[in-house]
Amino acid sequence: MTAGAQPRLEQLRDNLAGVHDRIARGCGEAGRDPEDVTLVVVTKYFPASDVLLLHQLGVRHFGENRDQEASEKFREVRRALSEAGGDDLTLHFIGQLQSNKAAHVAGYADVVESVDRAKLVSPLAKGAHAAERRLEVLVQVSLDGATSRGGALPHDADTLADAVAAAGALELRGVMAVAPLGADPDEAFARLHDVADGIRGRHPRADWISAGMSADLEAALRHGATHLRVGTAILGSRPSLL
Ligand SMILES: *Cc1c(COP(=O)(O)O)cnc(C)c1O
Repeated sequence: MTAGAQPRLEQLRDNLAGVHDRIARGCGEAGRDPEDVTLVVVTKYFPASDVLLLHQLGVRHFGENRDQEASEKFREVRRALSEAGGDDLTLHFIGQLQSNKAAHVAGYADVVESVDRAKLVSPLAKGAHAAERRLEVLVQVSLDGATSRGGALPHDADTLADAVAAAGALELRGVMAVAPLGADPDEAFARLHDVADGIRGRHPRADWISAGMSADLEAALRHGATHLRVGTAILGSRPSLL
C-alpha cells in the first residue's frame, strides 16, 4: 500500500464501523438478525483504490450505476485481486440501464438490481448466455407513481418478474427500490414489501428486498430489507459531476 492510502483506509474503516453499528441497532429495534442483511457499498464516482481498501476491510458486495465506469473500474479491481490470490466479490449494477448496454453489463455484473422494463430481459439473457454466466436479477419498483427516475409501476413489476423468471441465464431474486424524494420512507418501503410479497408468492427464491441508502437504512430495515445500498455514509460526498 502507498503511504497516502493509510489515512483513507482509517477513514473508510471508521465510516464502515459506523454503518455496521447503525445496521446492528436498526436490526435490534426491528427484531431482526443482522446476519440476514447484506451491505452493498456503492462506490460510484470513487476510484478502484477505494474498492481495494474496502475489500481489505472485509467488504464483498459493491454497487455501481454506470456501465463504462463500472466495467473499467472492476476490471482493474478484479485483476488486482486475482494477482493477490482471490477475486471474491459480488458486483451489483444499480443504475438506470439502457437496452443497448444491457448485454455488456450482463458480461461482468453479478447482480443487476435495476431491471424495470421487459425490453431489458432479452439483451440481459443474451449477454449472460454469451459470457456463460448466470445473472441474479432484481426488478426495480417505482414507489412514486411515475417511471421517469427508473422503476416499474407496482402492477407492471409482477409481469416483469414473471418474464425475468422465464428467461434462461437469469435468476429472479427479488425487488429493489429507491424511496421517492421528499416522501416518508416508511410508507414507501411498506409498499415495496407488499410488492415483494406478491412476487415471492409465485417465485419462492425471489426473497431479496434491496432498499435503503445512507439516509434511510433504518426505515428499510423496519420493512424487511435484505440488502442496503450505502455510498455517502461510507465513502463521503460524491463530486457533483465527473
Ligand atoms: C447512489 C445510489 C445509492 C447510494 O446512495 P447514498 O445516499 O450515497 O448512500 C443507492 N442506490 C442507488 C440506486 C444509487 O444510485
